[in-house]
Amino acid sequence: MGEQTNQVQLKNFNRRTVLNYIRKNKTATKAGLATATGLTFMAIKKILEELEGLHLIRCDEMEAGGMGRRAVTYAVNETYRYTVGIHINKFVTSIALMDLRGEILEVERCSMQQEFPNQNAFVELLVSGIEKVIKKSGIEKEKLLGIGVGVPGPVDTENGIILTPPNIPMLSYLPLKEILEQKCGYSVYVQKDTNVIAFGEYWYGDGSGRNNRNDCYDLAYVDVDMGIGSGLIIDGKLNIGANSIAGEFGHITIDINGPLCNCGNRGCLEAMSSGIAVLRELKAQLEKEPEHPLYEKRENLVIEDVFKMAEKKDLLTISILNQSALYVGVAISNLINILDPQIIILGGILIQKYPRYFDIVTNVANSRKVKGAKENYIAVSKLGENAGVIGAGEIVADNFFNEKVNELFCKNA
Ligand SMILES: [Zn+2]
Repeated sequence: MGEQTNQVQLKNFNRRTVLNYIRKNKTATKAGLATATGLTFMAIKKILEELEGLHLIRCDEMEAGGMGRRAVTYAVNETYRYTVGIHINKFVTSIALMDLRGEILEVERCSMQQEFPNQNAFVELLVSGIEKVIKKSGIEKEKLLGIGVGVPGPVDTENGIILTPPNIPMLSYLPLKEILEQKCGYSVYVQKDTNVIAFGEYWYGDGSGRNNRNDCYDLAYVDVDMGIGSGLIIDGKLNIGANSIAGEFGHITIDINGPLCNCGNRGCLEAMSSGIAVLRELKAQLEKEPEHPLYEKRENLVIEDVFKMAEKKDLLTISILNQSALYVGVAISNLINILDPQIIILGGILIQKYPRYFDIVTNVANSRKVKGAKENYIAVSKLGENAGVIGAGEIVADNFFNEKVNELFCKNA
């Protein structure tokens, strides 16, 4: 009996390995699968037939190398099931419906620059957005695997509760998983926003095609926005840490006597470099510069003011932005010294809106890290504003391809 169970487990493990290899590589051949997995050609052939029979993958035949030769490749059947990914941000909440290859079929964006009378009103906004994308896509409701949500941290991921987000206090202690599961009837996965973005970048962003595709690798996503945060993928898996605070990059100390941070500590990276820190520093400097064009506006500055002035070659705003980038570069050199990830992706408003920011960060990071080692690959996010919804949906897909898929295999044992 025990031996039989072990055999079934091993069979399912091999099936998942083949399926997830195809998923990660977008397409795969029998020969490529045999080399990558170490399984025999016959075993691969049998597993592929099973996966095709379950409609999890499809087989494409293509002309290859002329002379009428055909190459057979395998890909995930992207229309087998669908996911909903939600990204809740201080400014906008995005709700998207995706297929199993991370393609967005429908997306709804709702402004967060409105007063929500209570948490219920916000939940209703999410529920109607979810219903809208399902309806507009025209998919059958049974084909939706679940809903992934990226929320501002800190988060109790196990119970899906948003804790005390400093930038959106209205959401404090919202048990989002429980409420959405009740209202929508699907499985709901709640995860910190920067973690879902990192996951999106790993699967579909600049991270997906790099490196040796056979290997799982490490990726760090660093978000430099009004706040600063990060998400870490270690060996292909999301790393949330022992107490869900891994990747709290904004709260590493840069200056022990520095300005007070909203976490209670002094001189955190977020207190020195974030969009909020940039605005605070600009206001302080403007008090001494009554001739400056932003002097009159100093009590009501918004981050766009800073970018506009920097674009006009204004020295004050440029020096504040450069200083902010310098600290982020120092912090990233520390990150490289500890983790040495293959890929570092940078995103967020300061990276996107001030072109020199990225160059300063990479130069500082590379010049301050341990000398002699090869340079790490550092890039600006290419998924941009969609990284969050794509990653949130992929967390649902990942659970399917690694856990729920076993139920299908068992029926087909
Ligand atoms: Zn802090």
